[in-house]
Amino acid sequence: GPNRPSRAERPPYLSIAVRQVADPLVALLVAAVVVSAAIGERLDAAIIGAVVVLNALLGFAQEAGAEREVLALREAVERRVAVVRDGQEVEVSAEDIVPGDLMVLREGDGVAADGRLVAARGLEVDESALTGESVPVAKSGDPVAAQVPFAERSSMVFAGTGITRGRARAVVTTTGDATEIGAVAALTARAKPPRTPFQRRLGELARVMVVLGVGITLFLGGAMLARGSALDEAFLVGVSVAVAAVPEGLVATLTVTLALGGRAMARRGAIVRRLRAVETLGGATVIASDKTGTLTQNRLRLAAVWALPGEVEERVLAAAVLASTAEIVDRGDGPAAVGDPVEGALLLAARDRGLDPGDLVPEGSVLAEIPFDPERRRAAVAYSDGRRMRVFAKGAPEVISNLSSASSATREALEEQAGAWAADGLRVLAIAERFLADRGLADDEALDAELRLLGLVALHDPLRPQAAGAVRHALEAGVDVRILTGDHPATADAIGRALQLPSDRVFARVSPADKLELVRRLQRSGEVVVVTGDGVNDAPALRQADVGIAMGGSGTEAAREAADIVLTDDDFSTIVAAVREGRRVGDNVRKFVAFLLSANLGEVLLFAAAVGAGLGVPLTVVQVLIINVLTDGLPAVALSRDPEATEAMARGPFRGGRLFSRRVWGGLAVIGVLVGLVGLAAFLAGRTLGDGAEQTMAFATIAAAELTLVFSVRSVRRPPWRLPRNGYLEAAVLASVALLVASIYLPALHEPLGTVSLGLVEVAIVAVLAAAPVVLVELVKAGAPLMRGGCGKSARRLGGDADGSSAQAAHTRDS
Ligand code: ADP
Ligand code: MG
Repeated sequence: GPNRPSRAERPPYLSIAVRQVADPLVALLVAAVVVSAAIGERLDAAIIGAVVVLNALLGFAQEAGAEREVLALREAVERRVAVVRDGQEVEVSAEDIVPGDLMVLREGDGVAADGRLVAARGLEVDESALTGESVPVAKSGDPVAAQVPFAERSSMVFAGTGITRGRARAVVTTTGDATEIGAVAALTARAKPPRTPFQRRLGELARVMVVLGVGITLFLGGAMLARGSALDEAFLVGVSVAVAAVPEGLVATLTVTLALGGRAMARRGAIVRRLRAVETLGGATVIASDKTGTLTQNRLRLAAVWALPGEVEERVLAAAVLASTAEIVDRGDGPAAVGDPVEGALLLAARDRGLDPGDLVPEGSVLAEIPFDPERRRAAVAYSDGRRMRVFAKGAPEVISNLSSASSATREALEEQAGAWAADGLRVLAIAERFLADRGLADDEALDAELRLLGLVALHDPLRPQAAGAVRHALEAGVDVRILTGDHPATADAIGRALQLPSDRVFARVSPADKLELVRRLQRSGEVVVVTGDGVNDAPALRQADVGIAMGGSGTEAAREAADIVLTDDDFSTIVAAVREGRRVGDNVRKFVAFLLSANLGEVLLFAAAVGAGLGVPLTVVQVLIINVLTDGLPAVALSRDPEATEAMARGPFRGGRLFSRRVWGGLAVIGVLVGLVGLAAFLAGRTLGDGAEQTMAFATIAAAELTLVFSVRSVRRPPWRLPRNGYLEAAVLASVALLVASIYLPALHEPLGTVSLGLVEVAIVAVLAAAPVVLVELVKAGAPLMRGGCGKSARRLGGDADGSSAQAAHTRDS
């Protein structure tokens, strides 16, 4: 079978079904069925029963859909791993590994199956996923006793762990569920992913609404009983208020929205590993980006070689190759370099000039390797040539220069040349060597001291063509861009200039530890930080980030594991596109939350006013249920698919992942009150007319008001007719309107729904009242910019869909 943990392929349908039934609201409605039947209202009982079933079915479909989307996201990342088959190193999908395969493991790789080491050099493995021990453990092929505890099996590597140093080959012993991690995973398979901040906030909100509903229910029930109403009548009013108050669809709609956003991001090359990232991205305020590979193409090419006096360029290049641990392999489609891209470029360039690394050193003469480490900024390899030991080293010019015994004049000459190349945007490495009479140097760390400088190599890495535009877009969207690179300051500055980034946004010679510290400080000052990374050492910063983004193409498995999002194209502009998508998702979540909350509030207030003032029951239970289906159902879901607002990237990000600013909260409350008021007015008008149409009029007014408001909540700034069209929403509203008309004018529905046909005057009253809230909202929208007195760019940046807060503006650079 495939090498993967057997995991849920389908959503847990049974538990989703159980969740639909085991809901307090359902219990309440079932009780309403029983009470209605007991007092002889058979039809009411049947209808409420039918709505309960319908509601459960809808809820089930929605939640199952959400889970399916989440599962689909999980499948999206395919892992490629290197194995030897038929004597050839090839790349296969991790799922296709079988026992007996020979895995090729290098620094940064993840181990895809359990295996027995057959060769290892300087191997260190991070087994924290398995043992919880965060310090990497050294491993080798040396046999260990048959019965040793798991943690001491140093001749084995285990699936789910990662190579932090060295390289190795291992024969696969077990795959899939049979691996050590598979056994652990089986125990935790059902663990649900943690809820996102939005999910948590909406969960809280829903609970607040429930408490509010219960409070009002008790109050109204008490008031009715005090006035001498029958217990069953009071009970049914209570049920109505509860149904009106509880925003059932909220959390499921949110999950679907996030998952769909994740899908859209995946289509653009950003694969979402954690759902949380979708909503967090929309609020990102800083992107701390890598230079190499993200802003540049990571297509390194040798640009120049420079030899110190007395040396020749060819020897400098040969030494650079000898100081490398990358290899050239042919996987059937021509020779390609594996390992560090810098070293790969050196190897390929040397090959083109007829310098084959295989010819430079006899096979098997390598004594020790210190692979490149961004903390130390250098790499070295030691060889034996019979009697002596030769060490070749390369690294950042000032680092190698400081380790050398060269005269200060020589060092100055070297660093001057390095600085000149760096200013051209080139990546510069110094090359050095060392001869040792004895071979007995025990300490690897002492290998590359007292070096003899040979010269420099410079590599060119072209900028990505889209990078400059994407950086500009990010800045315009109020997202700060910072370049964090281990490269030379002059190189970094050249790149920064090419991207028109102010130089105080460029950080050079940054080590992975610095990166982590920078992220922490930014977060402490309130920023929402996106970090990109590719190396083993980037993992801590990726985890610390609010959204960690790993390079899928050039990055290591270690970085991908730590990240929330994996880029398939390693492209900076994809990050900006994902931020844009995150904002769309955030906007849409706010829209349907705003819509549902204000609609529910309106219904509750109508009940509170009418029943509280002793005017009678404004809506039947069935009518409340219908309104819920008409509004909470299709239109709210359609809102979550709204296209991106044109200004989504022309304003600052939402701060602190809040749902709404205080002003928008206030606006929602006002809309809720308006809806309640027009409902009440319709009810009173109906009573005055005396045709027994008061409930139908209230019903029609509330439903129609909400079905028009759904267009208005799409933007706090612009009128609906100036927004991009949303076909889903138009279709959903049309269907709802048809249902509304049918429930008023189809005689067959009159008795079950408690409605009557409305006359011309009544329809006119309903139309005027239902239009009132939306007209008022649009008038306020049109007048608001004038009242604020803002204009031009800064005014444009103040707002935002369903947001309207000015907190964002403070962040954007030029406002
Ligand atoms: P970046 O942030 O651009 O990825 P790195 O941390 O990878 O930068 O590299 C920092 C510096 O270390 C480079 O400017 C270069 O001088 C040196 N360097 C990079 N790769 C190697 C390597 N494979 N061997 C030796 N030195 C290297
Ligand atoms: Mg790098």
